[in-house]
Amino acid sequence: MKCYDNDYEWHKKDVIDKCFMCGEKSEGLFVVRHFASMKMVHLCPDCMVDRISEYCLDNTRAWKGNMIKGD
Ligand SMILES: [Zn+2]
Repeated sequence: MKCYDNDYEWHKKDVIDKCFMCGEKSEGLFVVRHFASMKMVHLCPDCMVDRISEYCLDNTRAWKGNMIKGD
């Protein structure tokens, strides 16, 4: 199922429910754009703060942070 826009490219190494930097599984991952590659990745809040200058928070897509909870 394809659910991204065409210009919305994900980094090859990105995993949807893990942080791109530290690999930690988290419910509160941010979807951010990696400036160096201009690809989208997921970051946990800690890595987001550490790398704020390297990544840009992207608001063009709805966050799906609650998807994992499964209530
Ligand atoms: Zn992280």
